[in-house]
Amino acid sequence: MLYPSDLSASRLLHEQAKRSLPGGNTRTTVYMKPYPLYAARGQGCRVWDLDGDERIDCINNFTSQIHGYAHPVINEAVRRQLELGTCFGLPTESEVELAEMLVQRVASVQTVRFTNSGTEAVMMAMKAARAFTGRPKIAKVEGAYHGSYDYAEVSLDPNPGNWGNGAPASIAYAQGTPSGVTDDIVVLPFNNPEAARELIRAHRGQLAAVLVDPMPNRAGLVPATKSYIQALREATREIDALLIFDEVISFRLGHAGAQPLWDVEADLTTFGKVIGGGFPVGAVGGRRDVMDVFDPSNGKPALPHGGTFSANPISMRAGIAALRLLDAQAFARLDEIGERVRAGFNASFERHGVKGKAVGAGSLLKVHFTAREVIDYRSAFPLPDEAGMLGQFNLALLNRGVLSASYGLMALSTPMTDADILQILQAADDAIAHVAGLH
Ligand code: PMP
Repeated sequence: MLYPSDLSASRLLHEQAKRSLPGGNTRTTVYMKPYPLYAARGQGCRVWDLDGDERIDCINNFTSQIHGYAHPVINEAVRRQLELGTCFGLPTESEVELAEMLVQRVASVQTVRFTNSGTEAVMMAMKAARAFTGRPKIAKVEGAYHGSYDYAEVSLDPNPGNWGNGAPASIAYAQGTPSGVTDDIVVLPFNNPEAARELIRAHRGQLAAVLVDPMPNRAGLVPATKSYIQALREATREIDALLIFDEVISFRLGHAGAQPLWDVEADLTTFGKVIGGGFPVGAVGGRRDVMDVFDPSNGKPALPHGGTFSANPISMRAGIAALRLLDAQAFARLDEIGERVRAGFNASFERHGVKGKAVGAGSLLKVHFTAREVIDYRSAFPLPDEAGMLGQFNLALLNRGVLSASYGLMALSTPMTDADILQILQAADDAIAHVAGLH
């Protein structure tokens, strides 16, 4: 059934949802006008909605579902744990096993602490940096998303009217954010090593850490240059601040995540999404001396941290199974299909004379309807007609059987076959031709 339709079961359910959920919605990120498609079930890389319509899923729950849906190996691991109990007021073997996997994979990670989400992981990393250094401020990149902790949200969606002419302004995201929050966040421009270095030095003695995602999705999903990451690494060392790598998304770029791809070792790393195999998860890991702020073995730690469901064995077992499946061969395949999809999209833009491009790396891509070079949040910021074309493209893609996130993000998954990739490329080519016809 074409979207939107008055006959859709999703439309009916959305009407019902409005009575018990604000705007009928629980996650702002999945809100869609006039109504969202409700998922009925998923299998492999496909999702079926309430009307029984089948689509290839390139949202993959905003990148968590690297193995798609109902993977038999992950399901079996979870089923076994279900029989043994879902969570306890006691630690389990599973958290030790998943922690060891992360320590083995990521050179800069010596010890690990689990949380229930990426938001909590970033929050705990920021708090750990403050506890370790005794300093109040954190620097983050303009436009970069790091979850819904109010400090992490600063300058997430500034616009040309408020982002400032010199150094990026520190802008609250949610209404009601206390001014102390914006005062303690230093906003860095992305991919500008000189400016970032200068700002970091200017906050010497005050800055606890620099938080960076090396390929920030909301800031355009263009990879950071190596010189930018190097500047952050050097400047943080120079002023004894910590470098926090947010790998909640970028850990899906390789067996050891993003750090080897940028030749860098962070002091703290945050994880989420794929390390939970489709269940709620987050983790912060890093240098043993820094992570010791969590250590309760000598009385009250510098940074106490609990969480009723932290390290619950269902998430841990699913995560262990998911990571085992992510071997060198899986990453080679994800890289290869990612390249094929980006190249195919770019060829379609050219074929249909539409100014646009697909950027990203590995299994992640994002579509920009612009001829500008995209290097950071400001160059990625869409003009009204560009935003309009992206909306038309997404809708056209959805009606050709492919789901993508509303702001252009797409994530590929291991169950995708060559035939699935061809189907995605064909749908995108048709969708780009459709957008070209409208303009
Ligand atoms: N950091 C990054 C880079 C993210 O993309 C996200 C979520 N998309 C988060 C943190 C927050 O993770 P969660 O949604 O699990 O709270």
